[in-house]
Amino acid sequence: MTDCVFCAIVAGDIPAEVVATTDNVVAFRDIAPKAPLHVLVVPRLHVATVGELAHTAPELVAELVTVAQQIAREHAEGDFRLTFNTGASAGQTVFHAHGHVLGGRVLEGEGA
Ligand code: 5GP
Ligand code: ZN
Repeated sequence: MTDCVFCAIVAGDIPAEVVATTDNVVAFRDIAPKAPLHVLVVPRLHVATVGELAHTAPELVAELVTVAQQIAREHAEGDFRLTFNTGASAGQTVFHAHGHVLGGRVLEGEGA
């Protein structure tokens, strides 16, 4: 997918602070962190939303959650919030499905 910033990060064409990779998932620190731990878990497959991912490749949704949990255990105390903004009015700005892993402090409010 051209003009997709997360496809460019997955391909290594744009640098990012990668914290975990699997055959199917890349996880990297958000450029504008909202918590001490703020990592984006991104499928290598380009689909626009997590709902589309669940329809196309449901096993990848489970893998995103598993990677998120591992990151929270390694980089925080294990507790985390996992947010999938879906659609512009819900705050989605990058239309390549991704979960926000937030942790490292007490979390209140609406999230990412
Ligand atoms: P959304 O608003 O779509 O749920 O989340 C997109 C997130 O991607 C935002 O939190 C934003 O800070 C992050 N982001 C956008 N561009 C880049 C980038 O080039 N590198 C990194 N590491 N994060 C980015
Ligand atoms: Zn993409």
